[in-house]
Amino acid sequence: MRRRTLGAVLAAGLLAVGLTACGSDDSGPDVKVKAADNLTGAAKALSDKGKIKIGVKFDQPGVSAKEPGSDTPVGFDDEIGKILAANLGIKESDIQWIETVSDNRESFLQNGTVDLVIASYSITDERRKVVGQAGPYYVTGQQLLVRKDDADKIKGPDDLKNVKVCSVEGSTSLQRVEDEYGASPVPFSTYSECVDQLENKTVDAVTTDGAILLGYASKNPDKLEVVGEPFSEERYGIGYKKDAAGMCDFINAALTKSFDDGTWADAFDATLGKSGSKTPDKPTLDPCP
Ligand code: GLU
Repeated sequence: MRRRTLGAVLAAGLLAVGLTACGSDDSGPDVKVKAADNLTGAAKALSDKGKIKIGVKFDQPGVSAKEPGSDTPVGFDDEIGKILAANLGIKESDIQWIETVSDNRESFLQNGTVDLVIASYSITDERRKVVGQAGPYYVTGQQLLVRKDDADKIKGPDDLKNVKVCSVEGSTSLQRVEDEYGASPVPFSTYSECVDQLENKTVDAVTTDGAILLGYASKNPDKLEVVGEPFSEERYGIGYKKDAAGMCDFINAALTKSFDDGTWADAFDATLGKSGSKTPDKPTLDPCP
């Protein structure tokens, strides 16, 4: 029920304003750059180094996307990254943003290409076997994006039988639509490629989290529409290298602080909630292993 309300609020808000994510005039929370007390292990090492590499998406408006002409991605995931860096005493200019796609998030953490992944990255038991995931810092759910002309034919996952549906390799979205709904899946590397396929009619639907789809719909509201209710629960987590000492405790403490001091809500309002629509309930964090 809560998710439905959030989805409706987001849909109305994002579509009304034409989502652009946060820009420099309205750049989200003002977070003090100061290392937290009691940092240990890998978190302390990062703080001492004074630099961090964060894996984010570059093509998901509202969540994390590079605007034309800019080198810095903007969106809710990026704001969460800045909050975490600030709590390590690392300033924004010392964050290196590295593009991750859904399928390389685990390997990028395992081989040290990035220190953290903050990339619409659902917490799952499978993923937690190979990487650490702290959070959740946000909860959304899988939905469908279709061409407006087809919105009366494809209204939800039960209408997907033998329909060509694009989703992304390595995502929970692709796996669910393959396993549970008898669709004809068309895998790509990124959701923006999927949206291109939908627009040129190579596929008839795109599926992933509502938060991501609403961003694409807001860029082309005359042609594209998010349909139906969420049919999964996606709990976005922060990925870190498995067993990195001190990371989960550090992340949970920094997120809790941001929930309490209003910076998490400010981050949401400046990005996914750009319209000024209601911020979601603060999620309950999983305990650290
Ligand atoms: N949240 C889902 C996942 O982590 C879908 C979005 C994505 O692929 O980034 O698989």
